[in-house]
Amino acid sequence: MASENELKEQLATCARIFAMQGMLGLHGHVSVYQPETKRVLITPGSGSDKAKLQADQMVVSDLAGKAIDGKGRPPLEWPIHMALHAARPDAIAIAHLHPPYSTLFAISKREYQPITVHSSIFGEGVPLYTEPHLIETVERGAKLLEVIGNKRAAFMRAHGITVVAENLMELLHATLALENDALKTLQTDAMGGAKTLSVEECRAINKEIKLDNIAQRTWTYYSTLEARWDHQPGTGRVELFP
Ligand SMILES: [Zn+2]
Repeated sequence: MASENELKEQLATCARIFAMQGMLGLHGHVSVYQPETKRVLITPGSGSDKAKLQADQMVVSDLAGKAIDGKGRPPLEWPIHMALHAARPDAIAIAHLHPPYSTLFAISKREYQPITVHSSIFGEGVPLYTEPHLIETVERGAKLLEVIGNKRAAFMRAHGITVVAENLMELLHATLALENDALKTLQTDAMGGAKTLSVEECRAINKEIKLDNIAQRTWTYYSTLEARWDHQPGTGRVELFP
């Protein structure tokens, strides 16, 4: 089991990678949960420079959104994270972001369907939370949980995305895969549209891929790139699937 300090390091790294990718800036947050202690580690809210976040800036909170350690307070939309961490044993790592491409599915009329093998993990569907508001209350967090159900992610209308994973490596990989798919959907629209993957095709792919291994490789690759990134906005971004 990773120590809390190790998890803080991983969480800060994950946030910096999302910042490098242009997917996390002024708004958005990432969290990781420790079921044994019921403590949530979460990145600080808007106003912090996500590209430079360090382990000692991670906020430690209980499941009621109350800070129990660390300097700051949990971000405004903490109920997103706490609702999912508390209810789903597989929701250990969560990202709530407003990335440039996957957010398009939260604001356009287009339904999301996977188009690349990496995104077959979203083959069971990515539901839409239809209320155009921030998730600032426990009630709204519960509603989001209901909408996501047992799925890996949700689009949030007029807002952004929430992605759920079993650990931070899987979270990074899955979120990058969703963003990559959204970009390629947009690009293929100029070529007559994408050939989408069916639920059955996604299930067949999922049986063959070893998500743990792939996520580990994604993590190693991106954390190596992040280590030499200049931490300026708009630089350092690299495709998951170039
Ligand atoms: Zn938000």
